[in-house]
Amino acid sequence: MTTTKSEFYCPYSENCYDCCLETEMPLSEKDITRISGLGFKIDEFLEEQDGFMVLRNIENKCFFLKNGLCSIYENRPEGCTYYPLIYDLEMDEFVIDDLCPHVQDFDPNIYQPLHEPIRYFIYMLLSEKEIRRRKTEEEEKKRIEDEN
Ligand code: SF4
Ligand code: SF4
Repeated sequence: MTTTKSEFYCPYSENCYDCCLETEMPLSEKDITRISGLGFKIDEFLEEQDGFMVLRNIENKCFFLKNGLCSIYENRPEGCTYYPLIYDLEMDEFVIDDLCPHVQDFDPNIYQPLHEPIRYFIYMLLSEKEIRRRKTEEEEKKRIEDEN
C-alpha cells in the first residue's frame, strides 16, 4: 500500500522564500537521520536552541537554501512541509505563522487534514527534547561521579 504524505501547498513559493530566512525550524530525530544520510554533518546544519535541534542559519539564511531554493526539498524537515501552518500549544489551536507575509491569505481551518500530523509532530519534538535533557543530566552525573 502506498500513502501520500499531506503537505501544505503555498502558491506564493515561486516568488517567496521568507520561511527559509532566519529559520528556527525544529527537527525530529527522524529528520536528522534522514538528512545526515544525504551526507551532511550534523554540526553543519543543526544547532541546539532551548533544548530543540533547529536548522542552522548561515548569513541569516537556512543552511540548505541555495539560490532561493531548498537544496534538499524532497528530504526537507517535516516541519518545513507544514509551514506556515503551526500549532499553538498553549492555545491548543492551529494558526498561520504571522511571520509569513501572506498570513492573511491562508485560513488555518481549511487545512484540517494536517492538524493531527502536526499535533503529533509537536508532541514528538517535546518528547525527544525531554529524552535529550535526561541523557545530558545522566552524562553529567556520571562525569561528576567519575571525577570523585
Ligand atoms: S513565507 Fe509564507 S508565502 Fe512565503 S513561501 Fe513561505 S509559506 Fe509561502
Ligand atoms: S530546509 Fe529547505 S524548506 Fe526548510 S527552511 Fe531550509 S531551505 Fe527552507
